[in-house]
Amino acid sequence: MVEYKHSTPPERPPRGHAYQAAAYAMLAEEHFGKTVRSFYIYYDDGCSSKAFKFTLTKHLRDHVRWTVRKIRAIIEGEDLPRAERKKKCANCGYYRICRGI
Ligand code: SF4
Repeated sequence: MVEYKHSTPPERPPRGHAYQAAAYAMLAEEHFGKTVRSFYIYYDDGCSSKAFKFTLTKHLRDHVRWTVRKIRAIIEGEDLPRAERKKKCANCGYYRICRGI
């Protein structure tokens, strides 16, 4: 499983990118019925590129499952956490929707 990001390769991928790609790997595992042991995050900004390999560890799996449980609780409870203005919000594709709450 390869997660492709059209962005400048970082020194190390942010943890959020690893969790996101781990979730995709788990979905691929479920969909195709095959065990996924590792995955890649590939960064490419058109000038430079770099791939990082990850092992789909128990820790990553547990964190993805914990996140899914948290999201389900938010949806079922209809209790949205207050959106905080953070630096990363500026580049978020959901900014206009999120900030409209
Ligand atoms: S704007 Fe994006 S990153 Fe910021 S809180 Fe909303 S969804 Fe999260």
